[in-house]
Amino acid sequence: MTEGLILNDVTSGYGPTHVLDRVNLTLRPGERLAVIGRNGAGKTTLLATIMGLAKLHHGTITLDGKPIHGLSPHKRSGLGLGLVPQTRDIFASLTVEENLLSAMRGTATLEEAYALFPRLKERRRNGGAQLSGGEQQMLSIARTLMTGPQVLLLDEPLEGLAPVICEQLMQVFEDLASDGRRSVVLVEQQAGAALKFADRAVLMANGAIVHDGPADQLLARPDLLNRHIGVALNA
Ligand code: ADP
Repeated sequence: MTEGLILNDVTSGYGPTHVLDRVNLTLRPGERLAVIGRNGAGKTTLLATIMGLAKLHHGTITLDGKPIHGLSPHKRSGLGLGLVPQTRDIFASLTVEENLLSAMRGTATLEEAYALFPRLKERRRNGGAQLSGGEQQMLSIARTLMTGPQVLLLDEPLEGLAPVICEQLMQVFEDLASDGRRSVVLVEQQAGAALKFADRAVLMANGAIVHDGPADQLLARPDLLNRHIGVALNA
């Protein structure tokens, strides 16, 4: 029995364009994976391909042994894949609570979301447009959690946020990953924070995975990060 999420020889992109080039990746249940690479390396496309938001040109994607690459993003979400997109997926015209209720599925509850993000409870009657950047990111994460994902895909969740909010969010990711119910894929420019969080890390360049190994190994090798990726350990 092949458990977890497996990308086998995946080439994908947008329309006729190829962005990912023969990517092989296995994400085991409960695993924490950091995805690191320069702008344009293909990190967002990797998540989009997993969710069914990019065009698959070649290869297969399976979740717990079942092929999912023919399924719509909605069906993949129903099977336990949850993406928090870089664009922060919230409705500006709805209140915080309405945003959460509109995403709710299965056994998820408002109480769980508010326990994770007390700030959202305080702001529950505020409109999405009235929230700070950090609060919008919390709401976007909470909306995805309302779908009960077993694989949580986070696309640069710390981008543009104050250090104190980044620390709070990293603690939330820690809590989410350590309850053993889900695996977490963290795409981050702040390589230091991502590598401290993750068990395993992949480095991407030009649509390919150029390194795949234990995260602590990479943390101890800033020279490797710099040579292949040119990212700074800034967290
Ligand atoms: P990263 O997340 O690592 O910054 P992306 O996956 O966003 O990288 O982008 C990888 C490549 O795909 C880039 O060359 C980018 O220009 C291209 N790309 C991204 N989104 C689209 C799109 N919607 N249509 C066409 N090309 C795209």
